[in-house]
Order: sequence, then C-alpha cells, then structure tokens
Amino acid sequence: SVVDPSRDSIVHTGRTLFWIRVALDVPLLALFDYRAIAVIPVGTRVIVPFGRRKLVGIVVALPVTPALDPRQIKNVDQVLDDTPPMPPDWLRLASFAARYYQRPLGEVMLPALPPSLRKVTAYQGKRSAGGPVQRMDNRRKKSVANPALPDPHPELNAEQAAAVDAIAAVQGHTTILLYGVTGSGKTEVYLHAAQAALGRGQQVLFLVPEINLTPQLEASLRARLTDLAGPDALAVMHSGLADGERLQAWVSIQRGTARIMLGTRLAIFAPMPDLGLIIVDEEHDTSYKQQDGLRYSARDLAIWRARDRNIPVVLGSATPSLETWNHAERGHYQRYTLARRARAVELPKVRLVDTRRLAMKEGFSPHLITAVGERLARGEQALIFINRRGYAPVLNCASCGWVSNCPRCTAYTVLHRGSARHNHLQCHHCGYQARVPRACPDCGDQDLKPMGRGTQRVEEHLAELFPAARVARIDADSTRLKGSAAALFAKVHAGEVDLLVGTQMVAKGHDFSNLGLVGVLNADAMLFAQDFRAPERLFAQLMQVAGRAGRHVAGGEVIIQTDYPEQAVYQALLQHDYSGFADYGLAERKAVGLPPYAFQALLTAEARELSAALAFLSQARSLPTQDPESFSTASAITLYDPVPLRVVRVANIERAQLLVESANRPALQAFLAAWSLALGNLARECRVRYNLEVDPLEI
Ligand code: ADP
Ligand code: ZN
Ligand code: ZN
Repeated sequence: SVVDPSRDSIVHTGRTLFWIRVALDVPLLALFDYRAIAVIPVGTRVIVPFGRRKLVGIVVALPVTPALDPRQIKNVDQVLDDTPPMPPDWLRLASFAARYYQRPLGEVMLPALPPSLRKVTAYQGKRSAGGPVQRMDNRRKKSVANPALPDPHPELNAEQAAAVDAIAAVQGHTTILLYGVTGSGKTEVYLHAAQAALGRGQQVLFLVPEINLTPQLEASLRARLTDLAGPDALAVMHSGLADGERLQAWVSIQRGTARIMLGTRLAIFAPMPDLGLIIVDEEHDTSYKQQDGLRYSARDLAIWRARDRNIPVVLGSATPSLETWNHAERGHYQRYTLARRARAVELPKVRLVDTRRLAMKEGFSPHLITAVGERLARGEQALIFINRRGYAPVLNCASCGWVSNCPRCTAYTVLHRGSARHNHLQCHHCGYQARVPRACPDCGDQDLKPMGRGTQRVEEHLAELFPAARVARIDADSTRLKGSAAALFAKVHAGEVDLLVGTQMVAKGHDFSNLGLVGVLNADAMLFAQDFRAPERLFAQLMQVAGRAGRHVAGGEVIIQTDYPEQAVYQALLQHDYSGFADYGLAERKAVGLPPYAFQALLTAEARELSAALAFLSQARSLPTQDPESFSTASAITLYDPVPLRVVRVANIERAQLLVESANRPALQAFLAAWSLALGNLARECRVRYNLEVDPLEI
C-alpha cells in the first residue's frame, strides 16, 4: 500500500515527514510510531530506537496521525532494503497468528525472520557492510535451468492417481486429507501434486515434522523436482541450520529463485510470493506444535494460510489427528484414501503378547526373543522400540525404598551409562546431573538397583543375548553430535546393523529395506498417561513404528508386549483399523465434550511457590466476574479449577494450570482477547510468570 503523501504526511520545517507504525519484538501489546523522511512501504524492515536500545522492526501501517504527540516521536534510524518488504499475505498470516494465539504482533513477526534479518548488529557494527543479505549475495550465483517435465516414476496406482487428479483439479481453496497406510505411497502423490504446481509456475510449501531424520525425502525432492525447476529450486529450512543457511533459504524463496520450500514447522512463516500448494506430511505429528514462545500449530496455520491465499492444502497421514478426521467425516475436508501398500508387500502382522503371566527376562518375553532370533537367522534386521532413553528410569534401594530423585524437580533422576561403564544420574526435566552414590544415602546399604529399563539397558541385554549380532542404538543421547544420526541411519540402511534399538526417532518416515520385525517394549506407560490424547498419540506412534516392518521383505511382523491386550488401542492395532479407532475415540470425546467437540486454552503459571502460582490462577479465574460488561460471552466459557501440574516443580520453579473451555470457538476467542489484556497486570502484582496457550495439545 503506497501512501498518498498529501494525506499521510505533515510538512515540518520545510521537509515532508511520514509516520510509520512498527511492530517490535517486545512483550507489549502495543505498536510503536516513528517518523520517516520518505515513504516506507508497509512490510519494510527498519531499525528504530527503543528506550536506550536499537531494534529491528517491521512497518505494519502508515497512520495518518500518530498515536502520540508528534514531538515525542523519534526518527527511524535505518530503512533496511536488502530484502523486499514482507508481502501482504505474510503480514496477514502474522496478524492472524498474533490475534488467534493472543500474542503481540511483534512477538510473532520478528521471531519468524531468520536471526540475521532481525539482529541490529548485522547492520550496525563491524560486520555490517551492506547487511547480511548483501554479504550473502557476494558469495554465489547460479542460473536457473529451463523447466521441463521429468519422467514420472514409478507409475501411479489407481488410488494414487485419483488423489493426484483430485488435487490438480482443485480450483481455489480446499483442504484435502490424504489418508494412506504406511508405505502406501503418499510421498509419490505429494511429488506429483508438487510437480503440477511447479509446472503452473507456482511455489510449493512442503512441511514435514522433522528433516534431519529423513534425508530420503529431501533427496527424492531434489532428484525429482529440481530438473523441473532448476538446481536452486529447493530451499530447506529447519531449526538446525546455521544462520547463514537459514537466511539463504529465506531470501531465495522470497525472491522466487527457490520454488519449493521443504521445512519443519517454522517454515510456515516463509514468505512465498507464488505460493500455490501447501503439503503437510504426517499432519497428526505433535512436532507441528511449537512448545514455547508463540505456541502455534503449523498445521493449523497452514490451513489458514491456504484459505487466505485461496489455494489447496494437502494433509497426509496414516493416522490423522481426530480433529482432522472429524472434519473429513463431516465433509469439511475432501478425503482420499490409499488403502494398500504401494509395493507388493502386505502390511505387517501385528501380535499382542500378553505379558501378565509370562516369565519376563530384562523386559523381554520369550516370544519376542524367539522372534528376534528367527529374523537374525534369516539375515533380516529387527527393531526394538522403547520410548525411554537412558539405562533405567530410576535407581532404588531395596532395603529402605530410597529412590533417586532430582533435588530441583518432582521427578526421578535417570540412570545413564557413560563410556567405560561410567554411570551417572541425570534429570530429564532440568538437566541436573549427579554421580551414582556408592551406597544408599538414607540407610547406607550398598545394593542399589536400577529399576525398569531404557534404551541403553535394552541394547546391553540384546548384545548379551545375540553376541554375533551387530547392535546399534538410536536415541537423543547416541545422536547428540551433529551428523551422528545421519551416520547411524546410513549404517542401518547399508546393512551394517542387525539389531536396532531406538526411541520415537526411529519411527518417523524411514524406509528400512531389510527390516522384518518390530518389537515394542513398555507401550503401556503411555496408555495411562493423564492426558486425554494419550491413546490417540500411542496409536499413531505404534502404527508408525509398525509401518517400518516389512516394507520390502515379505512377512513383516510387529510384536507388542502389553499387560492390557484388551484395550481398544491395541485391539485396533491388531486390525490396522485406524478408522475404527477414530470412531471409538471421537464417540468418547463427544460424550464428555472434549476436543474436537470443544475448544480449549490453557493458562500456566510459574512461581517459586506453588501457592503463588495457584493464587494467580484463582484471581485470573475470577477476573471475568469483576466486570461482566466486558465479558459478555462468558456464559459460553468454562473455567476449571486451578491445579498443580503433574510434574509440579522443575528446576525449583513450581507450576500450576487453569483450563479454559468452550464449545464455541469465536466465543472462546473473544473471551481470551479480553482476558489476556488483564492477565499481564495481574501477573505483575502476583509476581508470577504465565503463559496462555490456545489449542494446547497436552493438558
Ligand atoms: P508412505 O509415505 O505412504 O508411507 P512412501 O511414499 O514412502 O509411503 O512409499 C512407500 C514405497 O512405495 C516407496 O519405496 C515408494 O517408492 C514406493 N511406491 C510408491 N508409489 C508406488 C507405485 N505406484 N508403484 C510402486 N512403488 C511405489
Ligand atoms: Zn536405603
Ligand atoms: Zn530436575
């Protein structure tokens, strides 16, 4: 929007002045006005004085009259034109996110930029010469090849073709659910849909939960799509990139040299002038939810962005979230189903091993041990999935009952085995570390025993049981060094590993060609988590890890050990019956009025003392009644009692939460908008830190 200088400026001491309104990354719900000596388009980044500091901000409006007395208004320090102004649809997306998630606009916009574009030091200081983009430009330039359609391979089956055609036929906005079992060839559908969009001259945003773990997808995108749109056509964005790489990806997609953005949740904010298609792979994955700062759902923002731009969005999953499934059932989303595996291999057979009356050894049933042995004898690989890292979740004194607790958290410390069997205790909540005591601190008994097991202990046991097998472990500990995850996965793919032990890291998206068996330990731990979404998450996770078995070898098998084989989750898994499970889950949610039949927000408070956190929440709860006029929609809103979090204390901070719920989303939004205005002051009075989360995934 270009300003009419005659309206939007004042003439002052012979010079024409313009007012700009700027969003800054400060925890205030305000925007800030500055004075400029030339028209600065909305969306432009500027450096402005703020208190004693200088900050990078984004121009969001050109007010006719400033909000303050003009004499109090400071001048813009610098106009940053090394990138084009942020486009209008980007500004709309950020404004929506700020409104919906109840955050200041600047706290949404600025953190969405690559760090180099929002740091004043990148422009002012020693290394400033022209800013980071100019420095970047000096490094490289390649030409863009002529677009030509590559050979589509392999040939699509009928179900895939129907989905591809449907996506291509979409005019305007539609949300499409691509519901396909693991190995059904969803990726092939995405690739074809992306090719079609690129062929129309559009850009494609391809969101995945995790990139580092699945280089296969990046490789096939590169191979298949860059001959269509040129070698620089693929930009990749995730939080593990160096600042320079992130900047490069951002600039190339904003300028349009890059045509496909493959990224994790943060890529939802990539400026894409020609955006024509959004793909959200594994749409149910909780990694799409940002868990600090602006707590957004990239999946939900993707749907909003697609609607705003009037383009299709494809959500893919073998186990869609119940929210998404409900939309599809009601006809809000178009659903396409890939019911069979794309290759001529059957889905793996699922077996439940009832562990209640079995003699277990180190957590393994005889059935599972036998099955592993058989696979190894056949030259196949086996995977043992246990979603708990470390050696054992707690150390225990048999004579007095002492357990290893974290001194700073209401949690156990986990026993970890270091190199040369050098053990230590570690808190997974706050990072606290301690040596393993030689004797019980309470009674002096020297017989301290690790209770339960994690990946390390399972790895150790398997190595003892199968001394000839090459055992590898993949979890957050074994992959801490950059590149080590990729190296470990490469070994598995190269057949240099016979037995793999892993956490959820191994469940996502991998196509292991020689893996015949998946064994699942300790699944029950997730079954009885307090969170109402726990069964849904468990089902998705087990389906996903099960999907690693028998993708290329015949007779794939999944063995789940459980004390509760009759539970609905496990029964549905036996049949690979997602839709049965979803029907059951939705009926249950409906009966008790939980999402997707209700909308929620969670107010969390943190303080040194739990009592302070609870007091704040109690007062917050009674805020609406103080001024009924401003909360006219309150009748539709339920505010539950404040309660301590399950892990109350983390790093000596105590936490409590208050759940807000309504069957009416606009009503909840209106309530939150008014409520959040009052929370800031209240929190200052109560001396607590708080966070308001809209659509929380874990409550
Ligand atoms: P999903 O993402 O649904 O789990 P993938 O897209 O990884 O499944 O596909 C599984 C395997 O099937 C891959 O090896 C892929 O190359 C192959 N595949 C996909 N479509 C076809 C097809 N139409 N014919 C033969 N193989 C296919
Ligand atoms: Zn003791
Ligand atoms: Zn701790």
